[in-house]
Amino acid sequence: MTNKPAIEKLIRPEIRALKAYAVPSAKGMVKLDAMENPYGWPPAMVDAWLEALRGVALNRYPDPAASALKERLRAGLAVPAGMELLLGNGSDELIQMILLALARPGATVLAPVPTFAMYELIAVAANMKFIGVPLTDGFDLDVPAMQAAIAQHKPAVIFLSYPNNPTGNLFSSAAIEAVLRAADGLVVLDEAYHAFAGKTYLDRLGGFDNLLVMRTLSKQGLAGLRLGVLAGDRAWLREFDKVRLPYNIGSLTQATAAFALDAKAVLDEQAARIRADRDTLTRELKSLPGLRVWPSEANFILFRVESGEAERVFQALLAAGVLIKNLAGAGGALAGCLRVTVGAPAENAAFLQALRAAL
Ligand SMILES: *Cc1c(COP(=O)(O)O)cnc(C)c1O
Repeated sequence: MTNKPAIEKLIRPEIRALKAYAVPSAKGMVKLDAMENPYGWPPAMVDAWLEALRGVALNRYPDPAASALKERLRAGLAVPAGMELLLGNGSDELIQMILLALARPGATVLAPVPTFAMYELIAVAANMKFIGVPLTDGFDLDVPAMQAAIAQHKPAVIFLSYPNNPTGNLFSSAAIEAVLRAADGLVVLDEAYHAFAGKTYLDRLGGFDNLLVMRTLSKQGLAGLRLGVLAGDRAWLREFDKVRLPYNIGSLTQATAAFALDAKAVLDEQAARIRADRDTLTRELKSLPGLRVWPSEANFILFRVESGEAERVFQALLAAGVLIKNLAGAGGALAGCLRVTVGAPAENAAFLQALRAAL
């Protein structure tokens, strides 16, 4: 039953104006749209994991503080001494907790654009205003524009995706430090793609009292698990922890993540393979006529096809059974742009073959 007048009266207009985050069906497709790791675990590791799960008491609530897992994460991620951790059901939930806690009337959220869509979506859901500051032509932070927007809007928080999704690059250190110095609110470095980039601000946490660093296990092979990690000063995280739902990290997730961190060498080896395949795929894309291909420090590659061709190429790939991401609809810097996730070698080959045929 729908009741349009009641919906229009009761649902906030900015929510009605949103489009739900669309995830297309990938059944039977070569799936290169969502930055997933294409590799599973070796069979012996799966057996050991299932054995570890046998001991989980599902009749009991999970450890609300996930203490054992946090200890493993501290060691596994090399979190600096003195810094606290907060866990989320994916880093998406951490973004939501941060914004729920900061959403005073009139508060703003700022990010360079184009960037990860959830910063704006969650800002709107939290009743905050989102300010997007265009990146430079080379996709670096536009420092004067960021400084001006910070002075004008006094954002409660700035999100910097490092490397940036969907452009794939790392912002320059000088630009990031200029933003950290200009901001009187928080700056969250979202290091979702850290495994493919190597560079981090985790070891700089002590140097800036407005810096927080966010990681996720999603892009490293555990997208189905939903575990995000926020690292930073205890005083900040204690406040965000108050809006966290008490049992947000389930027992199966806690046990599985702890197991995976003990087997971190397997995940690291997969990330190294993906990095090498990214460089191969970048070279092959660059050899195709009519494409502009951007270098990537993540596990995806942004490329632009000739004017007016993006939707046709995207559909031709779909018809050939290859799902990537069409970003052209966003326009602006992303006009004509498509984004492909680095898959296993056979998937990358299928993508290249379909793309060659489409061009
Ligand atoms: C994919 C992605 C995330 C979401 O990660 P989850 O932990 O799966 O919620 C966060 N930030 C950026 C920049 C991403 O690309």
